[in-house]
Amino acid sequence: MKAKTFPRTLRQAVTYFRDPDEARWLLAQLRWPEGITCPSCGSFEISDLTTRAVFCCRLCRRQFTVKSGTIFEDSPIGLHQWLCAVWALSSREHAASSHELARRIHVTQKTAWFMLSRIRLAMQTKGFNALPRSGRRRPRNNRLWRKGSSM
Ligand SMILES: [Zn+2]
Repeated sequence: MKAKTFPRTLRQAVTYFRDPDEARWLLAQLRWPEGITCPSCGSFEISDLTTRAVFCCRLCRRQFTVKSGTIFEDSPIGLHQWLCAVWALSSREHAASSHELARRIHVTQKTAWFMLSRIRLAMQTKGFNALPRSGRRRPRNNRLWRKGSSM
């Protein structure tokens, strides 16, 4: 783990999560508090292809990123922006407002509001897995989203 101080204000969070390694690391912690797990087969045998920010499952050979299968996947909103919103919602000292978030991460207030509501929902359901869409299989392995994660 890196020695960088975790952000205490939204302003610090914006700078902090601009580092893609930090952003990736934090999301991995949120998703897999018990260790990186293959979203396809649930295996813990994962190779980290750090240079490409991609993980590879040693069992099923599937490659995935920290965003695969989450609400952050296929989003035009950058991961660092999402994580600022996550930070704003999980911070105790700092109540999140969509107006302030919008200003800090340079999105419209409407977008910020949408992000906050998506994350609130994800927090309630104890995971950041993508909402089921029609024709899309829900992951069977709910071990990843177990209650009592380190959030
Ligand atoms: Zn696998």
